[in-house]
Amino acid sequence: MSNRSLTKDEVGSNNLYALFRGRFPSDLSQVFLETGQGRAYTYEDIEQETARYAAVLAGLGLAKGDRVLVQVEKSPQAVFLSLACFRAGLIYLPLNPAYRKNEVQYVLSDAEPSAVICGPELLGMMKELGVERVETLAGETDGDGGGSFVEQSRRSQPGFSTVPCEGKDLAAILYTSGTTGRPKGAMISHRNLAANGLALQDCWRWTPQDVLLHTLPIYHVHGLFVACHCALLSGAKMIFLSKFDAQTVVSLLHRATIFMGVPTYYARLLDEPGFGKDVCSNIRLFISGSAPLLAQTFSAFQERTGHAILERYGMTETGINASNPVEGPRIAGTVGKPLPGVLVRIVDDAGQTVPLGEVGEIQVKGDHVVAGYWRKPSETAEAFTADGYLKTGDLGKLGPNGYFSVGGRAKDLVITGGLNVYPKEIEAAMDQLDGIAESAVIGVPHPDFGEAVVALVVRAEGGKGLTEAGILANLKEVLANYKVPKRVFFLNELPRNVMGKVQKNILRAQPEYAHF
Ligand code: AMP
Repeated sequence: MSNRSLTKDEVGSNNLYALFRGRFPSDLSQVFLETGQGRAYTYEDIEQETARYAAVLAGLGLAKGDRVLVQVEKSPQAVFLSLACFRAGLIYLPLNPAYRKNEVQYVLSDAEPSAVICGPELLGMMKELGVERVETLAGETDGDGGGSFVEQSRRSQPGFSTVPCEGKDLAAILYTSGTTGRPKGAMISHRNLAANGLALQDCWRWTPQDVLLHTLPIYHVHGLFVACHCALLSGAKMIFLSKFDAQTVVSLLHRATIFMGVPTYYARLLDEPGFGKDVCSNIRLFISGSAPLLAQTFSAFQERTGHAILERYGMTETGINASNPVEGPRIAGTVGKPLPGVLVRIVDDAGQTVPLGEVGEIQVKGDHVVAGYWRKPSETAEAFTADGYLKTGDLGKLGPNGYFSVGGRAKDLVITGGLNVYPKEIEAAMDQLDGIAESAVIGVPHPDFGEAVVALVVRAEGGKGLTEAGILANLKEVLANYKVPKRVFFLNELPRNVMGKVQKNILRAQPEYAHF
């Protein structure tokens, strides 16, 4: 326990921050986070900074249950801001800084945040979008996380009473696009995050001696919650880099005990000539998720480093569901067993559990699963079964050893470099363009990104002048870069089945679309 005793409110509260706070190291001068530039922040800094930030948010007139939309570059201050929101009972709503104006506009109108905190470069856009209460927070590279928000926090007092919360109160909303193309806000509660964080911390045997090399983005569950919360719950340390860069990772791995990444990171590490056993001698766990890890990457990595990458499976709506073990065999192509407290079943189209070894939809239930989507009762009802299981839209099977494998997707989704792209959203953006009659977006194998987004377009009458470059330039205006197709191909018509549905499996099977 830490040397500040918890207040009466904190003891009885299910506020996630109170849970973290109760598990800080007793010596608060221990380092929690060290940046790539060598700047260190202690556990005491978390306590003080989050109190100041929470006071600023309260001073802006925000009260429990209000949403705070945050679109900033990765920085320690952004982590503190998420914790400050929990502490103040506010709902943290991070957005990828790459999102374009129209993507942000949709979230603004759906979530109705009471305040927006954005990078200084996005201030003009937020003003154009009519946001009234907006403060800035700069990334570390722009000068130590400055901006109007941090400036105000420097003038506020470091004392703030953590707001009592119930487990079901919302801590965060993370938007995930859907098969309908309309992004949905997954409502993540304090209980969801506490349950998943504690289960992972135990499953992966975190200790205060662990040092996580953190290179993931923090607008996504993986980097924001899975990575940071395991460290916080353990009183451990993070080396916190603004982004993944294979060479930098190779130069710093000797100082870390845990590394987390998406499969693309592991493929890139294997491309580094200096990467091998020596570099990894201090590491006890390499963890992979957010997209399928190819068996050949698993084997090549094991051969080169002696480490079996630990693969796990999760999603925005659930955090992590299943994981390969720390002790015991890690099996390539599987995501291991359900975490304690997580129920997983594989069902057929009729919702019946399939026999062992057969493929069906993965459904999950537990304290880690969100209650639903923000202000979308019909999408929420559709996403859950009558007995409360979340339909993940992922296909999978259970092996005789109790290990699950994720094998394909029932939902139309492309995962590129660990980021999800829902084809429907891209198709809708393309169909807005002049000269396009119809379009289809598919994922094709890509050596670096796992999958690449590829668009197939049918020209409309008068669409003769349409070019690949022209379409891509237009899409870049309205879509974050990672969603923009890598290639556009023109067809006379899209293959359709008797029901008129585009047969994407036929498109995906065309080898000419997959040259990267
Ligand atoms: P997200 O909501 O962005 O975290 O994406 C969740 C989706 O990523 C899941 O529904 C799966 O389709 C996919 N995913 C996550 N982890 C894995 C994994 N280990 N293997 C295969 N697919 C995965």
